[in-house]
Amino acid sequence: MVLAQGVCKSFGPLEVLKGIDLEVGVGEVMCIVGPSGSGKSTFLRCINHLEKVNAGRLWVDGHLVGYREKDGKLYELKDSEVALKRRDIGMVFQRFNLFPHMTAAGNIMEAPTQVKGISKPEARARAHELLARVGLADKADAYPSQLSGGQQQRVAIARALAMDPKLMLFDEPTSALDPELVGEVLEVMRGLAEDGMTMIVVTHEMGFAREVGDSLVFMDDGLVVEAGHPREVLANPQHERTKAFLSKVL
Ligand code: ATP
Ligand code: MG
Repeated sequence: MVLAQGVCKSFGPLEVLKGIDLEVGVGEVMCIVGPSGSGKSTFLRCINHLEKVNAGRLWVDGHLVGYREKDGKLYELKDSEVALKRRDIGMVFQRFNLFPHMTAAGNIMEAPTQVKGISKPEARARAHELLARVGLADKADAYPSQLSGGQQQRVAIARALAMDPKLMLFDEPTSALDPELVGEVLEVMRGLAEDGMTMIVVTHEMGFAREVGDSLVFMDDGLVVEAGHPREVLANPQHERTKAFLSKVL
């Protein structure tokens, strides 16, 4: 579903990604950990083309990100085409970014009705279905300010799912939450994984990585230092940098 080969990204003189090679199969969950500034968010942003890579290649769902192929040649996508592709990728951030003036259901209905042209009744029915899936069947008419952080984040997940993404990217989805609210969000993510969603999750929740992840990647300084099965990486890290990092977060 996602294949990265030698992905490099710089901001001016600052090299943030220095050649990332990764592969995530359909239905797999990859967890990414690493110190602050190692390039994790930048890598996610490259996957949905919020950032343009400087070198290397990145494929999502068989398509080279940012390009289309015609008669064996590559053409850069126009902004409108990029936007179209981005619909297939759901993204959930640390901050929930819900529209404050819309109810939970309203937030979830927004993109399907505005972007996909789905009718309001249909979008509303789907929003209720998705709210039930994230355990918030009774909160359809609540505004974000009336919801806890964990509930808001679950609405944000439902909102991303409303576009029927093929891939979900999570960037530290629980790190802004009070500890007692983390579990409910991870539980929803676990359910998604069990339903076969392909997911890349930047997280420091090692329990989640161990139990739900198919792979665990340790990034440092713009490189993949170590990758493998979560249990193996966690039990037997090979690199000093991984050991040092894990000793701090475990
Ligand atoms: P954290 O764990 O703190 O979220 P991260 O691993 O997600 O860190 P990134 O956000 O990808 O790290 O940032 C990597 C580096 O790139 C940092 O040094 C950051 O300052 C820099 N950076 C990110 N975005 C930009 C930008 N738009 N312009 C300039 N520098 C940027
Ligand atoms: Mg980040």
